[in-house]
Amino acid sequence: METILEVKNISKKYQSKKAEILALDNIHFHVKKGEFVSIIGPSGCGKSTLLSIISGLETKTEGEIYIENKKVEGISEEVGYMLQKDCLLEWRNIWNNSILGLELKGKVNEENKCYVESLLKKYNLYDFKDKYPSELSGGMRQRAALIRTLATKPKILLLDEAFSALDYQTRIMVTNDIYSILRKENITALIVTHDISEAISMSDRVIVLSKRPGRVKNIHKIDFDIDNRNPINVRESPKFSGYFNTLWKELGVDE
Ligand code: ADP
Ligand code: MG
Repeated sequence: METILEVKNISKKYQSKKAEILALDNIHFHVKKGEFVSIIGPSGCGKSTLLSIISGLETKTEGEIYIENKKVEGISEEVGYMLQKDCLLEWRNIWNNSILGLELKGKVNEENKCYVESLLKKYNLYDFKDKYPSELSGGMRQRAALIRTLATKPKILLLDEAFSALDYQTRIMVTNDIYSILRKENITALIVTHDISEAISMSDRVIVLSKRPGRVKNIHKIDFDIDNRNPINVRESPKFSGYFNTLWKELGVDE
């Protein structure tokens, strides 16, 4: 598989009035096309900072980001971002929310509108296109937010604790739902979470960061011998608890 994202020796210092904070120290890894990679690490170790740098929203102090061999400078067109809050606009119906990203990028045209329509149909939201976000369940709202992000055809999707606001039951269902959509659409995903189980269940690899300043402690390959694996069926694999224990211990050293 070819490499789509290269994170090369990224360091980040925040400057406050009193002090300098080293948030990230020499972060280095690659992500292959279509791969799902999770990043876990203690609170404050720089996970959100790293995603912001990859998207081009935040500046870096040292290092380079490459997407498809092109250096990222400024906000990257190739990256989609999903946050904990779905950020749907309550006064816009689902259709108008779905095309918001296209509007912001000045890309509302027939072809793109057809694509959004096909996504809404494929993922069972088309019948709700005239409804408002408040009329949808939490899971459906996340799906609508995802379709809005996919509408602009990002090559990489960054998820920052995207499911952590949902209650446990809903979170498992939504994670499964989003996972299958991303796989079907051949999206590459970089997932930040503090939930070890979520990281294992969704990923081909898990990157463990140390406490601040965030450094790559270890990168674990996650491999279940399951056809059509998904975040729910892997939880039944005997390998799941093995991965969990390894990651738990590795994080625990830092807590
Ligand atoms: P995480 O997402 O892993 O919890 P963050 O990336 O949010 O961590 O933050 C990493 C560190 O950088 C924290 O210590 C945080 O306080 C600090 N930090 C984050 N954003 C800023 C900022 N804009 N200015 C100064 N310090 C910041
Ligand atoms: Mg964070």
